[in-house]
Amino acid sequence: FQANRDRAGPLLASLKAEGIGHVIDGKIVPAASGQTFETRSPIDGTVLATVARGNAEDIDRAATAASKAFKAWRDMPAAQRRKLLHRVADAIEARADDIAVLECIDTGQAHRFMAKAAIRAAENFRFFADKCGEARDGLNTPSDEHWNISTRVPIGPVGVITPWNTPFMLSTWKIAPALAAGCTVVHKPAEWSPVTADLLVKLAKQAGIPDGVLNTVHGFGEEAGKALTEHPAIKAIGFVGESATGSAIMAQGAPTLKRVHFELGGKNPVIVFDDADLDRALDAVVFMIYSLNGERCTSSSRLLVQESVAGKFIEKLTQRVKALKVGHPLDPATEIGPLIHERHLAKVCSYFDVAKKDGATIAVGGKPHDGPGGGHYVQPTLVTGANAKMRVAQEEVFGPFLTVIPFKDEADAIEIANGVQYGLTGYVWTGDMGRALRVADALEAGMIWLNSENVRHLPTPFGGMKSSGIGRDGGDYSFDFYMETKHVSLAR
Ligand code: NAD
Repeated sequence: FQANRDRAGPLLASLKAEGIGHVIDGKIVPAASGQTFETRSPIDGTVLATVARGNAEDIDRAATAASKAFKAWRDMPAAQRRKLLHRVADAIEARADDIAVLECIDTGQAHRFMAKAAIRAAENFRFFADKCGEARDGLNTPSDEHWNISTRVPIGPVGVITPWNTPFMLSTWKIAPALAAGCTVVHKPAEWSPVTADLLVKLAKQAGIPDGVLNTVHGFGEEAGKALTEHPAIKAIGFVGESATGSAIMAQGAPTLKRVHFELGGKNPVIVFDDADLDRALDAVVFMIYSLNGERCTSSSRLLVQESVAGKFIEKLTQRVKALKVGHPLDPATEIGPLIHERHLAKVCSYFDVAKKDGATIAVGGKPHDGPGGGHYVQPTLVTGANAKMRVAQEEVFGPFLTVIPFKDEADAIEIANGVQYGLTGYVWTGDMGRALRVADALEAGMIWLNSENVRHLPTPFGGMKSSGIGRDGGDYSFDFYMETKHVSLAR
């Protein structure tokens, strides 16, 4: 704990002294309007930094810089681009411990889960760095009369808009493939967590990424974010955030025919059948909703448990949730830190009344928590006695809040699991492999894990169905988004 605090001290002092500006064309610049906003720690409300508040003028400067830098970045030999992206990964790794503590202080996420976030971010850069040479790959499909060749070209300057949960890792997940594809980027990070996004663009510059290739404009969604989605020079928007924001972005981008890729909300089911390894299932259920403060798009926020084992399973689950340790995010013993913002705390807490009004039972938690620093802490909460129609079984709470719904049989489980507007992930626990595959096939979700919690493998497709998203990231899927496919036909 003390080592993390000692590490944070000087980092916070320089952050406070220097503030956070935009980084446009390789230069740190204030907002064109001169306006700023404050970013505060969810631990105790301390002002961490004064941040440039971007508007359409700042976005225009950044989009112009990204357009100017595009041709040289697109035409850079793949081997050279690969080397530069590996250098970014090296720079991230060298600062991994700093990134972890800053992320904890800016977002409230517990250090035990954040310690590896920068390492995962560096892996994102390495994975896509190694794919640079394949980015332009296409197909040869000769016909009797023509040599038919398809190839890919980067789409142009793109916008990346990211949310506040695990912001550093998530930003690299979008920015690394865009850069590897040969696109230049304007990044608009979440206004509630701007600190590590600022570090990322500075590390990229230090690693030798040319000026204008990665630009960061801070500010609010309705101002800077909106302007980015409307800018004619920006050819595509990679967005991670709420489903309602995705709809707004689609409308905003329509006049300029923006290509969009959306990773949105979820209300993901974990289905536990009575023939499952119940101890392993229990570990996974606890981990997938109560780690990362439950502020995780892939969290399993609905537990569907078979009636025949529900009583015993819920009893053990109750004990586990009661034992979770809420505390200061820099304390390695802490499992749940403060939620990102007072507005988000209020949203999560509003579901305690919703649960009661719906007629469900709050078996554990259900109140704000009095944690160190007086920040936005909440008790880990377990809701039982729910049915599939209740709001606590339908709406994304995005906190350490689990709703339990018992089911009778396989058909019942599938109907409940699919009976929501979302379709991001699903988790199935059973000893019957035939059933596991049948249920996986029937689930309306983009990603399904059988007898496993969520483990990312970078070549696999990542994304959601229904209101959980449009498009896939990962492996070659990312290049499909950031590149145009071009067909060339030569008469024989
Ligand atoms: P949010 O939609 O409120 O904000 C996300 C980003 O969009 C922020 O940078 C914000 O400034 C910007 N924004 C807001 N309004 C905008 C507008 N009109 N135009 C352009 N940009 C705008 O989301 P959040 O509250 O920051 O994040 C939590 C949400 O993100 C949850 O719903 C969660 O499920 C989702 N999420 C999804 C994934 C995934 O992979 N599917 C991953 C992480 C988070």
